[in-house]
Amino acid sequence: MLFFFFLILLMRGSITYNMGVEKYGYSEFLEKVEKGEVLKCVIGRGEVSGELKNGTHFITRFLPELVGPELEKTLKKNGVRFTYRTPLLSEGWQNLLFYLILPIFVLVIFWSLFLRGMQAGNREAFTFARSRARKYTPANIPRVTFNDVAGADEAKQELQEIVEFLKNPRKFQALGAKIPKGVLLYGPPGCGKTLLARAVAGEANVPFFHISGSEFVEMFVGVGAARVRDLFDQAKANAPCLIFIDEIDAVGRQRGTGLGGGHDEREQTLNQILAEMDGFDPNIGVIVLAATNRPDVLDPALLRPGRFDRHIVIDHPDLKGRLEILKVHTQNKPLGEDVDLEMIARRTPGFSGADLANLVNEAALLAARLGKHKITMSEMEEAIERVVAGPQRRSRVISEKEKKLVAYHEVGHALVAKMLPNANPVHKISILPRGMALGYTLQFPEQDKYIITKSELMDELSALLAGRAAEEIVFGETTTGAQNDLQRATDIARRMVCELGMSERIGPITLGRRHGNPFLGRDIFEDRNYSDEVARLIDEEVKNIIETNYKRAEEILRENRDVLEKLVGILLQKETLEKEEIDRILSDGEDSQQS
Ligand code: ADP
Ligand code: MG
Ligand code: ZN
Repeated sequence: MLFFFFLILLMRGSITYNMGVEKYGYSEFLEKVEKGEVLKCVIGRGEVSGELKNGTHFITRFLPELVGPELEKTLKKNGVRFTYRTPLLSEGWQNLLFYLILPIFVLVIFWSLFLRGMQAGNREAFTFARSRARKYTPANIPRVTFNDVAGADEAKQELQEIVEFLKNPRKFQALGAKIPKGVLLYGPPGCGKTLLARAVAGEANVPFFHISGSEFVEMFVGVGAARVRDLFDQAKANAPCLIFIDEIDAVGRQRGTGLGGGHDEREQTLNQILAEMDGFDPNIGVIVLAATNRPDVLDPALLRPGRFDRHIVIDHPDLKGRLEILKVHTQNKPLGEDVDLEMIARRTPGFSGADLANLVNEAALLAARLGKHKITMSEMEEAIERVVAGPQRRSRVISEKEKKLVAYHEVGHALVAKMLPNANPVHKISILPRGMALGYTLQFPEQDKYIITKSELMDELSALLAGRAAEEIVFGETTTGAQNDLQRATDIARRMVCELGMSERIGPITLGRRHGNPFLGRDIFEDRNYSDEVARLIDEEVKNIIETNYKRAEEILRENRDVLEKLVGILLQKETLEKEEIDRILSDGEDSQQS
């Protein structure tokens, strides 16, 4: 076939077989003819090939119009022998071949490849439209049950009903009870949504189809919709079973919000999901679970009755939840006697389930590296800090001066936090660089807090600004080290004024509406709904709050300069100070003052 293709091209003269053949321009050719160097030649359409008297083969290409009596005359005059190459086919036939038969040929080739692929049993050519959902049956995946999901008791309770239904759909059908078709799990990442969905399937012991929202979306229009159809067909054939669409926001975003069009594909996919959810009878025993971190961007149509009308929040675990998660993940690991899981849970507010799993794993890795047979508390502590701040960077070299600067900065934070009654307790000060930070002060509440008072915020602000204040007092100069602190402080102050109504001059009003923009994912936009005058007032108030707290921090540090120096001295020696040591040093200070 390929040969045939070649032949046609040759006939059209589009390629030349000119290996070991000189190429001459037309004028060069004529020159050689006139000099009598040419022995013989063959004239084709728009080209002449031939041989010189010295044996060199050559070819010359030119416009077809130049072939004619004129050329013949020149050749004859110089005694060149010449013949014409007769085309195999007339020009009309050539064109027919080229423009009609060739495309048909190409098509046939493709088709035969296609068929062969299918016969070989590898149906890749056709699998675009197949859903990429992975089917997990109880046989091919370790079963996850509710016992593997720690905490999240309310979510488990809610899902229990669905488990019951999947276990025994007939019982519900007989009673005519209506079961929700779709359940939406939402909450921050790493808090166990995927795990919980798997546990529902595991508890009910039914097949589990797992697909991620982004897997529906491909570059070919219509593929996503076809995949949805295929997924639901498969699920219906396997009922009772569970479909789990993870990260549904990838396809389920509000329609009509795509930037600059081109999002038809996503919309079609979403429409297909909606159609499928409406289309099936819940009593056949298919339940759709979906998960997202961004329920706010979902298309409202997804949340309507008959679709994902049941919503379950899966939030960061609280102290009790964290303790249980730690227990689950340390279950099969050898723990030293000194490991106090409750203490670890206490020290990790804001950690997600995934963070905690990671923490335990890090501790196990560390213990292995140190050649221990058990995980002890010191590995756990190191692991907490690793998860919080990245691995310790022992290799980083810091100059003495920088180290001193960092020490004053961190002790500044810690000392002010200690002196103010409402600031979060200081658990540790360190000047060992970690992650991006050169030093850090660990401060966190004894318990989880859901409400924060204004005085707590103010004390927190003072502590935040104290790093910079210490630098200024001691070195009489400011550095770049406080940038993150200032940013956080400004953010808090602004929210106090604009969102929390904590400024007296402005009063209990929220100003500006912050909302996530569905176009741009997580970016926060602010609608300004106040006048320039108010804007100026806001700026003044924010500045006021920051300045008040900065002054307060400065005063505390000046008054306690001796304690500051003492703490810095010890910190420079030991590089880290734990809560107990800090407390001891501070109370020593008081004793010496009294005596
Ligand atoms: P999400 O889907 O919410 O982002 P995952 O379910 O994927 O989170 O959780 C990631 C990992 O974190 C899980 O595989 C598990 O090891 C751990 N994890 C999260 N939440 C819990 C929990 N409540 N109990 C036990 N492990 C958890
Ligand atoms: Mg997940
Ligand atoms: Zn700082």
